[in-house]
Amino acid sequence: MNPLFRPPLSPELVARFVAIVGEKHAIIDPGDQASYLIEERGLYRGRSAAVLRPGAVDEISAILRLASELGVPIVPQGGNTGLVGGQIPLEGEIVLSLRRLDRIREVDAGSDTMTCEAGVLLASAQAAAAAADRIFPLSLGAEASCTIGGNLATNAGGIAALAYGVARDLVLGLEVVLADGRVWHGLNKLKKDNTGYDLKQLFIGAEGTLGVITAAVLKLYPAPKTTETAFVGLGSAQSALGLLALVQNSTGGATTSFELIGRLPLEFALRHGDGQRDPLARAYPWYALVELKSSAREPLRERLEEVLAAALASDLIEDAAIADSLDQRNALWRLRELVVEAQKREGGSIKHDVSVPVAAVPDFIAQASAAVEALIPGARPVPFGHLGDGNIHFNISQPVGADTAAFLARWHEVNDCVHAVVEKFGGSISAEHGIGRLKRDELARVKDSVALDLMRSLKRALDPKGILNPGKLL
Ligand code: ZN
Repeated sequence: MNPLFRPPLSPELVARFVAIVGEKHAIIDPGDQASYLIEERGLYRGRSAAVLRPGAVDEISAILRLASELGVPIVPQGGNTGLVGGQIPLEGEIVLSLRRLDRIREVDAGSDTMTCEAGVLLASAQAAAAAADRIFPLSLGAEASCTIGGNLATNAGGIAALAYGVARDLVLGLEVVLADGRVWHGLNKLKKDNTGYDLKQLFIGAEGTLGVITAAVLKLYPAPKTTETAFVGLGSAQSALGLLALVQNSTGGATTSFELIGRLPLEFALRHGDGQRDPLARAYPWYALVELKSSAREPLRERLEEVLAAALASDLIEDAAIADSLDQRNALWRLRELVVEAQKREGGSIKHDVSVPVAAVPDFIAQASAAVEALIPGARPVPFGHLGDGNIHFNISQPVGADTAAFLARWHEVNDCVHAVVEKFGGSISAEHGIGRLKRDELARVKDSVALDLMRSLKRALDPKGILNPGKLL
């Protein structure tokens, strides 16, 4: 569904929207709007008639009612950390920033739930859970600046999905403002509710195209009492898969993260991080960052040592280091974060956020690497990600010394090449970042046609005038 060309909104019309939130909470000057218009990777730079910062649900309701009446498109936005352009106003749309809706309405430790408004930062939600001796387990790189509303709208994944699931698994209820301004009060705390369609799941992962999430009841979990973290050197990605199975079978639900890192991404992190050193004495082709947690006082350390010793004895792994302190654990996770940051220092990088069945990950990486290297000799695959979820960030760094602009100009060509391998394994072209604008056209090509028909029917039913985040996702 391409957005129709719309003439710029008249100042009189913009003033009607501004009046709803008050001048103090509307940003009209394009210079002042910059942090709402440009996304992190610099792939998109938008423009907006007005950035509105409502402070209450009834203001959002009034904005959408007016937008619906006048046919004015709206782009909902949380922390503006999305990676696919979904939160950027590309055609001059009004931005509806949810950041001022940042109240934690309730922590109900007895029900293990927490009710957060959409603009609550993920890190603040985690902190509120910790204060009640619980955890909210969603965890990802942008957690200090991304919001709960954005996490739900994009169905965020992250590093703990292996044990706790993705964002959509962590929600019991939602409050949503619909396109026509009506408010759906669905903030229930029920684990069991068989009264028909699970409406909340329609809005989670819909990227703001079906309604605006304003609050959510989130699930809390017992706080871990023990955490053990290991960094393991491996001869192959296949061995990493073997280790994953071994660790999971030996520790039950205690495996909370299992991150795969190739040698090249680790080298990038070591090269560009301040004072980083290789946790292992020698270099290996692959690494796994493994974390176990238990909310009981279990001897996880001994169990992890036993598993790793058995893996060493059977030549499944080459070497391993277990963190002895919180500092050492943080240093290992810092290396994992640097894998993401350091790619920027190696020139242009073409990104893929894909998933395949867990058992197919090694073959996927091998075949996709070969395909990309055949397409662009010297291109450098930088594979890393959440092996336990079958979700690999299969990024491609430009050949050393190549022209960055010329390399990045081949973005979609490289995507097509990698996604063809994804398709072969029955995978997904977006595992955790969403579709936004970046993958919209490709989604239309690769998604099952019946599924696309159903998605378009839902869009027409819930947003008949097409005012909610037009041109994104569909
Ligand atoms: Zn990720």
